[in-house]
Parts: sequence; structure tokens; C-alpha cells
Amino acid sequence: MIITREYASFAEARDSFGGSIGFVPTMGALHEGHLSLIRRAREENDHVIVSIFVNPTQFLEGEDLDKYPRREEADRKICELAGVDLLYLPSIDQIYEEDELSISAPKIRGYILEGASRPGHFDGMLQVVMKLLNLSRADRAYFGKKDAQQLVLIQQMVRNYFMKVQIVPCEIVRDADGLALSSRNVYLSPEERRRALSLSRSLKRAAKLVQSGERKSEVIRAVMTGILEPEVTELDYVAIVDRNFRPLEEVELGNTIILVAAKVGETRLIDNLWV
Ligand code: AMP
Repeated sequence: MIITREYASFAEARDSFGGSIGFVPTMGALHEGHLSLIRRAREENDHVIVSIFVNPTQFLEGEDLDKYPRREEADRKICELAGVDLLYLPSIDQIYEEDELSISAPKIRGYILEGASRPGHFDGMLQVVMKLLNLSRADRAYFGKKDAQQLVLIQQMVRNYFMKVQIVPCEIVRDADGLALSSRNVYLSPEERRRALSLSRSLKRAAKLVQSGERKSEVIRAVMTGILEPEVTELDYVAIVDRNFRPLEEVELGNTIILVAAKVGETRLIDNLWV
């Protein structure tokens, strides 16, 4: 595995690859969720590139940029064992210069739900993903459905800017008890972790309701809210939208995402279910 922090040596290694390239951009503190993306990239491509970059422009003032978990040594080993060919660990100055041109997330889709709670987050996310997709020149890039709105916005960016890369959505990986894996789970105390299970529990309940024929968003949201409210510190939203993030009054099978965001203690968690 080639490990590099400099764009010049990254580009040299990238250019030495023949065949197809699969790319997995991450912010590190790698867990089984990331690993599932890397494994899939390994299966589907001749070469696999992983980047680890905690992107400052997607964090808002007062968010956890400074304390975001950094586990470089462990991450390297995980990538090595997973058969990654090229690991890129750029410093901020390898990615950004002063007075950059900017990318704005779309007005509606980029500023509801996560975009409403974290205004500007998706602008910064799209900016860095555009850069990383361009510098990797990958054939396929792998993103988790865990960050559903992010995934849909990246697909839109690729479409709107006629980018050639294929975006591959990957299933959410969970702990045995249902908690969606996240680098931020390390912030949770054992008590908070127990309360955080209410997110996946509410989604499981929603899935059961849909299976038994319930379609009304209002009914499903009310049941979910009832499960979440006693457990979470602050319920941000429970939303039922179509695959384009338009709110749905009724669940449409095969075209619906049910989303939840909540703070447990100081930690903000998201989870969702595609039905
Ligand atoms: P992050 O390091 O949080 O920026 O995540 C990097 C990629 O891993 C993103 O595409 C995430 O959606 C994906 N990811 C994070 N957690 C999970 C999970 N539990 N299951 C599947 N994909 C995930």
C-alpha cells in the first residue's frame, strides 16, 4: 500500500494504475461501515484508493472539528489489511488555498433537514467531494446510505456537473444491537449509547408499520416520536421523504427514506431507513 500526504506523489501513484479505480473518501476513525465500502470497492475494481481527510469546511462554528476522533495508525492498518492500494492523508493546505471558489448545495434539497440544522454543511461537503472525485479520477466512488442526504446531493452534483464517476450507494452497517456505526459513537457514554438505540428502534418500528400496511407519514412519525422523545436529549427531526428529499404524506414503497436526527447528550446522531 502506498501512503502519501502530498498531492504530487498521490497523483504519480494514481497515474501508475491501469484498469479500474474504486474510491472511498472518509474522515477516518475507520469502522466496519467504512470497511464495507472498502471491501465492495476491492471486489469491483482493479485498484482501490481511500482518502482520510477531516474536512474543515463542512463543520460549522461550534461543532466537533477539533475533537473529531483521529486514529491514523489504526486506520492505516485497517486499509492495509483490506487491500487498499493507495491511501491519501492530505493536510489542509494540500486541499485548499486562500480565497477559493465555492460550491453551493441546491437551495431546497441542500437546506432542509441536515441542511437546515447545519446550514453550510453541505456546501463544504460538496466542495471537498468534488475535489476528491476529481483528483482520484475514480471510475466508481462508494458512499454509505447512512448519510442519505449527502449521498443524494453527491449524485446530483455528479449529474449537474457531468462528472463521469459512478456513485455506488452502500447499505448501512449496524452493531448487533441495531446502532448504526458512526465515528461519533465513541463520544457516547454507556448510558447514552443505550438511549441512542431509540433511533434504530424507532426506524425498526416504522418498518413494521409499513410492512403491516400503514402508509400515512403522520401516523408513522407520531409512533417514532413516541419512541424517541423519552430517550433522546433533543429530537431534531423525524422526516419521511422521497428519494429526492421531497416530503411525502404517504409512504411510497421503493421511493421512500425515513430519517431521524437527534442529540443524545452532546452527541448528534443520524439514522435512516430506505423503504
Ligand atoms: P465519514 O468518515 O463519516 O465521512 O464516512 C465516510 C463514508 O462512510 C460515507 O460515505 C459514509 O456514509 C459511510 N459510512 C459511515 N458510517 C457508515 C455505516 N454505518 N454504514 C455504511 N456506511 C457508512
